[in-house]
Amino acid sequence: MIALSLFLLLALFSLLVSTSTAESLEELDKLLSKLELVDLNYPYNALEPHISERTMRIHHDKHHMKYTSNAKDIISSDSSYSSLTLEEIMLKAKADNNVAMLNNAAQSWNHAFYWLCIGPASSPSNSPREDSGIYKKIIEDFGTFDKFKSILASSVNSHFGSGWAWLSFNKDTRKLEVTSTSNADCPLLHGHGELVPLLTIDIWEHAYYLDYQNVRASYTSAVVNELINWDYVEFRFHKTLELIYVIDRDL
Ligand code: MN
Repeated sequence: MIALSLFLLLALFSLLVSTSTAESLEELDKLLSKLELVDLNYPYNALEPHISERTMRIHHDKHHMKYTSNAKDIISSDSSYSSLTLEEIMLKAKADNNVAMLNNAAQSWNHAFYWLCIGPASSPSNSPREDSGIYKKIIEDFGTFDKFKSILASSVNSHFGSGWAWLSFNKDTRKLEVTSTSNADCPLLHGHGELVPLLTIDIWEHAYYLDYQNVRASYTSAVVNELINWDYVEFRFHKTLELIYVIDRDL
């Protein structure tokens, strides 16, 4: 009886833990739709020794802050953007050919997403669980996990100039894709929105120069191998599959 009670208590506890993790990822993910400088959900020094507290403070508090405040300044003089989500602001700015709005809004989204895609070093979520959906899909589409990591790292290292590397799910082909974009560009702005970003890596020098100077490959290796938050990538993948289910059902 005591053993059974203990078992039930443990089962309830693990349910509560997994539910609260999913809920907090959902809450964090929802914040992407708002043009706000959200605090990091981990301490500034949590990525050390791979990315320093100094880099994180300058990157989040100065660079990301500036993109967000620039975008807000533009909105304060153009109310046609004021009731839109951040994603809608980006798409409208592209349609309007409003380059300043587009660059600052997209950089706000890209950075907010990047902070969620990386997380504390030496955390269990730095590797994907082999029974997770995203791990199985990576094996299906890339062959092996090491091959995927090598393709992602090459995408960062071979990108010319500033930009972002992405792992996205293509809603048309139902396959994962690794791409890179220049400057503020983002997969959400391509085609008819068929690419859903699941993971990004910042390729701007401000992301790594203080820690690695010109050796971008060392930064890439640290992020790819030590800092990705695979729980969040898995969450995004699941959310995308739920969306696909709705599309299929309505066809
Ligand atoms: Mn950046």
